[in-house]
Amino acid sequence: MSRIHLLPPLLINQIAAGEVIERPASVVKELLENSLDAGARVIQVELEQAGIKRIQVRDDGDGIGHEDLILAVSPHATSKISSLEDLEAVASLGFRGEALPSIASVARLELISRAQGAEHGWRLRTDGTDTLEAPEPAAHPVGTSVEVRDLFYRIPARRKFLRTERTELGHIEQLIRRMALARADVAFRVQHNGRELFDLRADAEASSLSVATAPSPATETSPLLAGACGERLETLLGAAFVQQALRIDEQAEGLRLSGWVARPAFSRSQADLQFFFVNGRMVRDKLVSHAVRQAFQDVLHHARHPAYVLDLRLDPRQVDVNVHPAKQEVRFREGRQVHDFLFRSLHRRLAEGATPSHEQADS
Ligand code: ADP
Ligand code: MG
Repeated sequence: MSRIHLLPPLLINQIAAGEVIERPASVVKELLENSLDAGARVIQVELEQAGIKRIQVRDDGDGIGHEDLILAVSPHATSKISSLEDLEAVASLGFRGEALPSIASVARLELISRAQGAEHGWRLRTDGTDTLEAPEPAAHPVGTSVEVRDLFYRIPARRKFLRTERTELGHIEQLIRRMALARADVAFRVQHNGRELFDLRADAEASSLSVATAPSPATETSPLLAGACGERLETLLGAAFVQQALRIDEQAEGLRLSGWVARPAFSRSQADLQFFFVNGRMVRDKLVSHAVRQAFQDVLHHARHPAYVLDLRLDPRQVDVNVHPAKQEVRFREGRQVHDFLFRSLHRRLAEGATPSHEQADS
């Protein structure tokens, strides 16, 4: 008798979910990435009990056509890539086709979407099993609403690992802060238990830039720089950061670094104000941290942490984002070059920023 057998689809998806859906904030991240990939200009998030009871994300993006709704919640189904070549040059935030089926396998999922040109929207509910009911007509403006209820209701072991509501909400807030920093061109409205958490208007100047999925991100202006030290930067990072922030916009050898770095006078006891994006995607990367730390070496005490929000743009072929399912790690093809570019750009800017004349120019 054979001892090896194929796993049932629900369990396959639950295993996949284990890698990406750790807590409510992971669900919010995946849903926001989908909204941004769909070209949304306004994104609304509603949360109950820090997202454990309910997360709803509404966007005004492209929407999903009736014929695609079932595929959208099927594993390994995506509209974003179709070949290895596409994968190697991927510019969208998503590409794995796993988020919605993973979420559906650990929570109750409802999708309502109306595509451009459709007369009305369609609703699809799924409990993560194969027995999907046919989509039914539903009123909805062009765009998509995804509702996720009762996270981990069928995986008590996982639910036990959730922290207090306050901690989970903290993770969501930090996530929104990151995504909203990268995309000042998009409006974000977030409510928790009916109370407003964020109401971030789109920056008009950033909105006029065409970002996200342009073919050569290295020449793009990051929305981070639009609107100067804008309202959003101040709301999310505080007035003290903005006061000490030096604007960065450096370009060399197909790399472009834009954003803001605080003068050493504004340092932190924790590494909590460090936001680094690669082509608009938030990443954590040793090489990046090392380059930044080195740039600050002479001007900052080693026990203090610099504060920055930086977006590195480069040809997507130069960076592998398919390193981990959560897509927060990257591998640079020319790591040394990236490291030295970051170090040089920041080092020079910090040296310039230390002189009074620049302080004038930047404040
Ligand atoms: P991925 O983002 O990796 O493609 P997902 O499981 O997150 O995989 O989503 C599957 C597909 O569903 C996407 O490729 C996209 O076509 C569609 N989709 C999901 N969310 C949205 C949305 N908010 N707006 C438009 N299309 C969406
Ligand atoms: Mg996705």
